[in-house]
Amino acid sequence: MAKTLQAVRGMRDIPPDQTPLWHFLENGVKRVLDAYGYREIRMPLLESTDLFKRSIGEVTDIVEKEMYTFADRNGDSLTLRPEGTAGCVRAGIELGLLHNQVQRVWYQGPMFRHERPQKGRFRQFHQIGVESYGLPGPDIDLEVILITARIWRELGINDLQLQLNTLGTPQERAEYRKVLVDYLSPRKEALDEDSRRRLESNPLRILDSKNPDMEELIAAAPTLSDHLGEASREHFQRLTQGLDGLGVAYTVNPRLVRGLDYYSRTVFEWVTRALGAQGTVCAGGRYDGLVEQLGGRATPAVGFAMGVERLVALLEASPPGYHEDPHLYLIPGGAEDEPAAMQLAETLRDQVSGVRLLLHCGGGGFKGKFKKADRSGAAHALILGERERAEGVVAVKPLRDAGEQRDMTAAELTAFCRRLVKDGLAENGQPKGNNG
Ligand code: ATP
Ligand code: MG
Repeated sequence: MAKTLQAVRGMRDIPPDQTPLWHFLENGVKRVLDAYGYREIRMPLLESTDLFKRSIGEVTDIVEKEMYTFADRNGDSLTLRPEGTAGCVRAGIELGLLHNQVQRVWYQGPMFRHERPQKGRFRQFHQIGVESYGLPGPDIDLEVILITARIWRELGINDLQLQLNTLGTPQERAEYRKVLVDYLSPRKEALDEDSRRRLESNPLRILDSKNPDMEELIAAAPTLSDHLGEASREHFQRLTQGLDGLGVAYTVNPRLVRGLDYYSRTVFEWVTRALGAQGTVCAGGRYDGLVEQLGGRATPAVGFAMGVERLVALLEASPPGYHEDPHLYLIPGGAEDEPAAMQLAETLRDQVSGVRLLLHCGGGGFKGKFKKADRSGAAHALILGERERAEGVVAVKPLRDAGEQRDMTAAELTAFCRRLVKDGLAENGQPKGNNG
């Protein structure tokens, strides 16, 4: 036998028994985004390397050590996108979507980072991202956070905490940077190697360190909130008042600085304890300077990205009350019944939108067919054999409870299937609220 090949380290297949959970998540997110008037934008997976250097920042984990960067056949340096915001801004400028306009968009798809693979951390992972352009006020920050909160409700995820902070303006950050360097420099010995390097290049990122040895040092550092100007303070206050008014709970975390350079003012993360170390499932904030930094006209912006794998892991831990098993498994009695069964399957799919019907293929004995029907997870088996065809009926046999097998005419069967689809399935496979 030939040697088998394996997926690239850190890059996973999503097997067919897991995609229903992904669909549940993606569909739920899309319903919420529709309700807020956000439209999807699709960008290429590959961008020029410069885009990420100029947006994410040269002194960040992503650009320093996580990017999949290579020269293509022309010698151009390309990078597999490590995140979506940079490409979204690039596209927005290029397509003329940003200047003097308000845009509310979202995107989804794989992102690539060369990190150490572990639970909740992969080299190819997926994000759903949301971005809003052209609105400078805290009202849109609030909207964006409300979207995230509604998504969790829609998905039935309820053990997430919202952490919030403000990073002020670039000027305010520059002031604070000096204060922070003054605090850290005499304590250089307590810094790890990365942080010592960052003391010169990007000291704020030291606050973002996950190194437990530096926890105390970081906790005692001066905070940015004491160095904010009036306008930044007010922006943040109006946001928190909005959240209070709408009953969205949050914690202000002054250490929340986010791993990317481009944020300003509002930043937030949704975190959980249920996933171990990789507890952030959604992160975002305002990035008013980025559009101009990438060559567009100054445009305020705010957005977030969700880590789909981590959300799927949460859903796996407490499965949502939804059903993706087939409603029906249709069994032709013998080979001579197969054309009629195929016809019936097509007719039901025409007539009952949303029906999930598996047609038994591959022949075999009756016992084997029922075994397969049972294993399919279907709620009911439909049997179309010689007798049924002669009498103009289909036999319907419940597979998930002890109910009786009974015959239905074509019209009865259609009505029955519509009820199955409309009401969803109860635990016993019967339409909900129907005991007959
Ligand atoms: P972390 O601190 O966990 O490395 P990050 O700050 O690098 O996260 P962002 O760039 O803000 O992450 O990406 C947004 C979200 O995407 C994260 O909150 C997380 O849920 C998810 N994410 C980021 N990197 C990975 C990865 N390598 N594998 C799986 N999910 C990821
Ligand atoms: Mg990271």
